[in-house]
Amino acid sequence: MSETFTPLAQSRASYYCKGSPVHFVQVELFRMDSTGSTVVTLTFKNFYSRPIQSFVAHYRCKNRQGEVIGEEDFSYENVDACNGEIFGYDDAVFVCDEPLGSVEVKLVAVTYDDGILHSLKRCTPVALPKLRPLPANERASVRAALGNPEISYYTEEAEDGWRCGCGGFNYNVGQGKRICSECGADKGILIAAIHDAQRASAPQRPMYDAGMQFLPVQDDDVMSASGRPGPRY
Ligand SMILES: [Zn+2]
Repeated sequence: MSETFTPLAQSRASYYCKGSPVHFVQVELFRMDSTGSTVVTLTFKNFYSRPIQSFVAHYRCKNRQGEVIGEEDFSYENVDACNGEIFGYDDAVFVCDEPLGSVEVKLVAVTYDDGILHSLKRCTPVALPKLRPLPANERASVRAALGNPEISYYTEEAEDGWRCGCGGFNYNVGQGKRICSECGADKGILIAAIHDAQRASAPQRPMYDAGMQFLPVQDDDVMSASGRPGPRY
């Protein structure tokens, strides 16, 4: 019998690590249906030209009272993630029987196909610009225009890259990458589609022609005499 998992929560990384060839993408929580346990998975992305062989991340899971209930290094072996590919999302790094309040993640080390271990501990975490959700009508028209159901946010510029409408961070130091490595959106086309959607949903300004320049002015005397303006004879 195969195990089934129900998604409980997903949280995008709020930072990236400057200089690191690997980036933390998101944490996801699932409920294991047979036991009711909570399962934690982490997703990372390779931004280097060589495929990753193995990778180590450090996690710290806290319960809803803020107590640490799990903290350890987790090793991903035989990763084989090429440039721009994500990995880790199908490995359970932590399983527990109580609801989780938070999961913190740090990058530890990566080994590429040349077999050399690179420590990532000194790569400084930099906060990413916050995701701003698109209003529902703009979101629908951008998704329809691009044929991309993953677009939910405005794009954001960051010092070392840009954040796509899908929430993905595209780290592009000196490379000017314009295609989102997570959803495949083209940055220029996406921004144009968002502008079009904003224009279309902006309230229309009333148009006046020459015959509509003068406002009709009510006569106070007529109002006070009869209570409502009536026809004059
Ligand atoms: Zn994207």
